[in-house]
Amino acid sequence: MTKLGVSGFIVVTFLAALGALLIPRPAAPEPHAPAAALQGCDWQAEWHGTLGELGEDPAAWSLADSAELEGNAGVAWMDTLTVLVSRDVPCRYLGDVIRHEWMHLQQGRMHGGWGAYEHYGARLEIVADCGSWLLGSAYTPYRDDARTVAFGCTMQDLADARELIRFRSTDG
Ligand SMILES: [Zn+2]
Repeated sequence: MTKLGVSGFIVVTFLAALGALLIPRPAAPEPHAPAAALQGCDWQAEWHGTLGELGEDPAAWSLADSAELEGNAGVAWMDTLTVLVSRDVPCRYLGDVIRHEWMHLQQGRMHGGWGAYEHYGARLEIVADCGSWLLGSAYTPYRDDARTVAFGCTMQDLADARELIRFRSTDG
């Protein structure tokens, strides 16, 4: 997690641990190329399907180039509840990235936007990743990092993640 710019927004360094996996080589096929479909993963279907499962308004989710996101897979703004996802994310990880970013939106919804920073402190990312994992994601780099030195998701992380998954905003 890094802060960029004066206004400040969360840059989710989802690629930090396994960046090479998510930044396609120059020769990598475009996400919408037939090759992706042949592998049984349709990028557009994954995008709309995952957002639909989460009950998200697609209007709040946009795509950007990996370079614009400085190599990050996704960026979540917890105040405006908007997300940018890199269109370079491989199809097989797209749902995982969306679920991770969604957890950040839930953190913002539940704890007053940037108030989530104070609430979770250093656990902001791991709680998001533990929630993504609970929702079925296989690609959870923050959790993987944590597992190398401890137990990955702690009981508290999992409890917080479940609370976020259950949370439904009353704003709309
Ligand atoms: Zn994150």
